[in-house]
Amino acid sequence: MRTLQYAVDVGGTKVAFALVEGSRLLARSHFPTADLTAAQQLAQVGRALRAMARRQDRTAGAVGLSVPGPVLGGVLRHAPNMPAGWSGESVASFGRALGLDVPVFAQRDALMGGLGEFAHGAGQDLSNFAYLTLGTGIGGGLILGGQPLLGAQGAASEIGHLQVSRRGPPCGCGRRGCVEAIASGPAIARRYQAAGGAPLTPAQIAERARAGEALARSVYRTAGEALGAALAAWAQVANPEAVIVGGSLARSLDLLSPAMTRSLVRRAWAANLPLPVLPAALGEDAPLIGAAWLAETASAGTPA
Ligand SMILES: [Zn+2]
Repeated sequence: MRTLQYAVDVGGTKVAFALVEGSRLLARSHFPTADLTAAQQLAQVGRALRAMARRQDRTAGAVGLSVPGPVLGGVLRHAPNMPAGWSGESVASFGRALGLDVPVFAQRDALMGGLGEFAHGAGQDLSNFAYLTLGTGIGGGLILGGQPLLGAQGAASEIGHLQVSRRGPPCGCGRRGCVEAIASGPAIARRYQAAGGAPLTPAQIAERARAGEALARSVYRTAGEALGAALAAWAQVANPEAVIVGGSLARSLDLLSPAMTRSLVRRAWAANLPLPVLPAALGEDAPLIGAAWLAETASAGTPA
């Protein structure tokens, strides 16, 4: 029988959390990301998770914590989309703040998403694939030989800051022309408005694109081209079997895909093609499910 795990997905706009058994979310909720310290926000989450477990009359074995930045040496590095008080804090301190009295396993959100798809989603039959998450930011995770690729700083395969145009728009990382500065949700909305469009959300712009509006279509085409360039670089280095796309903008994959595929095929070495692009099966729950899977797998190898 599968054991129950706590899962927490910390993001720039919300902190989602759930009781997870395998791929099933038995109970879930979220708080908006508040201008609180990490300890205050996680204490809220911990209280809510304990109440959820009490209502189910169950106990959880461990907690998986998906965080918006690389984790190295037990410390969260570089979480630029979070309020002050997250970057530089240790996973152990997050665990104390949650107060759940179970082991805590933290990893970068895009890797957690990739692990979720690997364990229970579109990557179940794949050993080598790239997971791309498109939303407020752009992140990536590579699963190679059935293992997540971490790299020296926990930031391997962080594709959002792959530079695809030296003269592109400025990026939050301080450089220009990163994929995230061209193809993230906010980047799409900014480009649309800068070209004379109304201030709309990426989803509203997508509706206009599907209705045939030329400006909306061109903004999604530009984003798709940048993503295709990034995928070509990924393909060259890691030779994945497929790319799985998750995150809120995955709903607009129909608009991104044609330009993305053209750009990929134009740039990639033929030996790395074809590279199928598949929609994520777990949607926006992938990081929660991956976090629970990591917690279950890692705690199984840890003496209690
Ligand atoms: Zn950047």
